[in-house]
Amino acid sequence: MNATDSVLRLVRPDILALTAYSSARKESRGGRVWLDANENPETPSVDKPLLNRYPEPQPAGLVAQLATLYGVTPAQVLVTRGSDEGIDLLLRTFCRAGQDAILITPPTYGMYVVAAGIQGARTVAIPLIREKNFALDAAAVLQAVTPEVKLVFLCSPNNPTGGLLERSAVLSLVQSLAGRAVVVVDEAYVDFSGQPSLAAEIPANPNLVVLRTLSKAHGLAGARVGTTIADPAVIAVLQKVIAPYPVPAPVLTAALAALTPAGLAAARESVAGLVAARTRLAAALAGLPAVQRVWPSDANYLLVEVADSAKAMAAGRTAGVIWRDRSKDVSNCIRITVGTAEENHATLEALSRV
Ligand code: PMP
Repeated sequence: MNATDSVLRLVRPDILALTAYSSARKESRGGRVWLDANENPETPSVDKPLLNRYPEPQPAGLVAQLATLYGVTPAQVLVTRGSDEGIDLLLRTFCRAGQDAILITPPTYGMYVVAAGIQGARTVAIPLIREKNFALDAAAVLQAVTPEVKLVFLCSPNNPTGGLLERSAVLSLVQSLAGRAVVVVDEAYVDFSGQPSLAAEIPANPNLVVLRTLSKAHGLAGARVGTTIADPAVIAVLQKVIAPYPVPAPVLTAALAALTPAGLAAARESVAGLVAARTRLAAALAGLPAVQRVWPSDANYLLVEVADSAKAMAAGRTAGVIWRDRSKDVSNCIRITVGTAEENHATLEALSRV
């Protein structure tokens, strides 16, 4: 069995056997008079984008730009409604309800468990090692991957702790799990880390999937543009499950604008500014009496341990500054996003009153 077959063996048999919905826009190309999809021939606006027509299911221009941005081939790319949709698609594609499971490494991003719950998949949790700066417990993860565990979600940099997982530990886990489970590395924040993506490792490891997004570094959270990067065979299976037109025409316009040379330069400048601000904010926070610890961050937020998280959150609310209380996951910790200079100032002002 070759490596691709061994990963396809992990897909739900009913999804493999499924005949995917074939939309009109998928079936006909190069036409002039479009009377095949019950569309209105009038467009409400002469301005682009045209809103009377269904968009391309996977707009070729956008797919090509994203492939270039992420250093992969177009066949390895699936554009989704945010990376959240990528998480959901993976769950629905790989996990049979009531039978299969995912593995997560808490504290981590909450959508993995939610998507598993929706699908009826069990969640196995192997915590990151807090004493080692929330490092991956690779040996424990490996041991916990039973045949029911189809997906292992790793988030790097991790939300909410902020740190990267060690690349070599992630890769050796991927290799150890070849043919047994798919390792999904969520790189929503990798642009802020200065470290390369793991996507380049996919050709050698078809059981590796990488999630990227334009929501963070590119400032397009409102447009909902995520990218699932995987072996072309895995992408082809995910295509069967995704809704027919996941990239609305106005979203395509916004995404393409963000990926022009000028758009990319602006994103790089924004990331550099936020990374510099992160360093300054971390140092200033560490000097406040209420702050006990600022965890090192490779992302655009800081996990901050305070004496009393409820009091800190209340002080923020009083000042109109909203952070994320993560104390349920990491005791007395709040997660503070790096904002503009004024916003960071407001954070420091509010926390200095605790
Ligand atoms: N992964 C992580 C780790 C996140 O923090 C988020 C956003 N909160 C997402 C994925 C989803 O991002 P989006 O759907 O906007 O791409």
